[in-house]
Amino acid sequence: MADSTGTVFDIVVLGGGSGGYATALRGAQLGLNVALIESGKLGGTCLHSGCIPTKALLHAAELADNARDGHHFGVSSELHGIDMAGVNAYKDSVVGGLYKGLQGLVKSRSVTLIEGRGRLVAADTVEVNGQLVQGRNVVLATGSYARSLPGLEIGGRIITSDQALELDHVPGSVVVLGGGVIGVEFASVWKSFGANVTIVEALPHLVPNEDESLSKALERAFRKRGIAFQVGVRFAGATQDDNGVHVSLESGETIDADLLLVAVGRGPSTNGLGYEEQGVTLDRGFVITNERLHTGVAHIYAVGDIVPGLQLAHRGFQQGIFVAEEIAGLAPATINESGIPRVTYCDPEIASVGLTEVKAREVHGTDAIDMVEYNLGGNGKSKILGTTGFIKLVRVKNGPVVGVHMIGARVGELIGEGQLIVNWEAHPEDVAALVHAHPTQNEALGEAHLALAGKPLHAHS
Ligand SMILES: Cc1cc2nc3c(=O)[nH]c(=O)nc-3n(C[C@H](O)[C@H](O)[C@H](O)COP(=O)(O)OP(=O)(O)OC[C@H]3O[C@@H](n4cnc5c(N)ncnc54)[C@H](O)[C@@H]3O)c2cc1C
Repeated sequence: MADSTGTVFDIVVLGGGSGGYATALRGAQLGLNVALIESGKLGGTCLHSGCIPTKALLHAAELADNARDGHHFGVSSELHGIDMAGVNAYKDSVVGGLYKGLQGLVKSRSVTLIEGRGRLVAADTVEVNGQLVQGRNVVLATGSYARSLPGLEIGGRIITSDQALELDHVPGSVVVLGGGVIGVEFASVWKSFGANVTIVEALPHLVPNEDESLSKALERAFRKRGIAFQVGVRFAGATQDDNGVHVSLESGETIDADLLLVAVGRGPSTNGLGYEEQGVTLDRGFVITNERLHTGVAHIYAVGDIVPGLQLAHRGFQQGIFVAEEIAGLAPATINESGIPRVTYCDPEIASVGLTEVKAREVHGTDAIDMVEYNLGGNGKSKILGTTGFIKLVRVKNGPVVGVHMIGARVGELIGEGQLIVNWEAHPEDVAALVHAHPTQNEALGEAHLALAGKPLHAHS
């Protein structure tokens, strides 16, 4: 059965976040007739409660630090305080502007936007608001939600990133449960805003998915910033009352704070949406696909956070583009998951792409790997900014660079070149021959490749 207008769409996309709207826009660009079903706001988590609002907070945090630290640069400035209403107004205006732009874009590409909660009722049909929307292809893109731990109920002083983004005040103290990307970003913001912050992480390091050298460097930097953390410690429970939240650890210690941020990962939003009934395989709620993002059922594909792997907006965008092109018969090249750049926007920033040193040794053999760490202390622009950190390169001996790992202020902006190097399988000697502008932080990438190619210029041995 088609929708009430009798239309059978080329693609019906369920979920209008990064993955879903990218599928819709690329599909429409390729001349396909696309329906996009969204129960909340077009743009999804990334735009409304993820990437964009958090990075606005982080930018405000950077300004707060600059005001506080002006005297280091001979600038008379003082931080008088954080006006959260003003910070939120700025954040909301950024989100609002992008939201308006996205709505206009979807409209201008003639994508049929259907508002409401959809459910897969047949392999080619989604039901929404009692209406049946039929497609020759269906793309599942329903995203993710903030997880908690068993017995830890979200409410009151116990919050997730969703509530953290809406706070109308700076908390006096916060315990952040989880030292992954979201946890360390909020820890960084709140510390800059003046809160006392303690991170609790069960694994042995903060940002445990990164190369261990970056984790250790972040831990040193956080210690210096006065951000407390406990690693290798398991959470036991939390209670709350009028005075605060009381977080107990398996070590027997209790930490009291105004708020507990639960940042223990994100689960797939797939429950009750009819996926399994149509034969789609779920593993702990995640949709299993092949490398072409096909579910193995009829013409059903899946993109974004519901597909196991890195939960990142740009991965979702790329998967969306891929699936639209696949449906259009363009046979696009598959996406290499390890070539997807990763940035953690705390202070100092972390950016990486490709294999960690440990992984590279596992994949290519322990003795087949060379690496170099180039200290940002030798980089003029980093010195000007007053940042420390390093760039670590991992290469296969006599072969390509397979990993770029960086820590320091603004290094997120350097990952563009890093990902070209790794994904184009450049050898250090290739990159060493390219000229990097002086003085830029980008130049540090050039220097690191010079070092790895055996001809360091501004490196102390
Ligand atoms: C605090 C935070 C910070 C983040 N920062 C970054 C960052 O800096 N960089 C980065 O790359 N990633 C970041 N992410 C991750 C990024 O937001 C996600 O990877 C991305 O949003 C995933 O896109 P998606 O399309 O899979 O899902 P989502 O963006 O979650 O979109 C899914 C959409 O589907 C809709 N939906 C769900 N069920 C239905 C239904 N039944 N019917 C209709 N519509 C439905 C939802 O309303 C939602 O709009 C961050 C996430 C968080 C929480």
